[in-house]
Amino acid sequence: LEQIDALSVKSYPICMRQLHKALRENHHLRHGGRMQYGLFLKGIGLTLEQALEFWRSEFIRGKIDADKFDKGYAYSIRHNYGKEGKRTDYTPFSCMKIILSNPPSQGDYHGCPFRHSDPELLKQKLQSYKISSTGISQILELVKGMHYQLACQKYFELTHDVDDIGFPLNHPNQYFVESQKLLS
Ligand code: SF4
Repeated sequence: LEQIDALSVKSYPICMRQLHKALRENHHLRHGGRMQYGLFLKGIGLTLEQALEFWRSEFIRGKIDADKFDKGYAYSIRHNYGKEGKRTDYTPFSCMKIILSNPPSQGDYHGCPFRHSDPELLKQKLQSYKISSTGISQILELVKGMHYQLACQKYFELTHDVDDIGFPLNHPNQYFVESQKLLS
């Protein structure tokens, strides 16, 4: 878990960083968040067993006991891995899917913060992530023009100290892979 905490700061796009933080703080995520984050974790290589362990260890720190977790939540995690229901092996959501479908409501942490956060809150978040004020202005300008993925790309370039990654970022898992390549 500590390893995932560190990765979430270094190599997660902010949509996933927000979900991870909310899970660690609240020991819970609602359905939309569990889907978006759960499939991302699957995409970065968590096995079903590791995923069950990850979610269980966090949920039982909150209001859910192990029994309730196994009865109420383990099913949907196995489902994401194609072990239940129609046995579809679900793939992690792309940026377009996250940006265009199932917008978050109060108490949700899923979605794309560039698209779904209030600009003032987004600004505060970027400040807390130590982005320079010039960088924040550039990002907010792109958000204003509804170029959410370009804003994300700019955030990537600023946090990885590259001028131009040279190709479009269009998937949270791609973001992660490119980040790991640069940092390792
Ligand atoms: Fe996540 Fe994609 Fe939004 Fe970036 S643009 S924060 S990767 S959904």
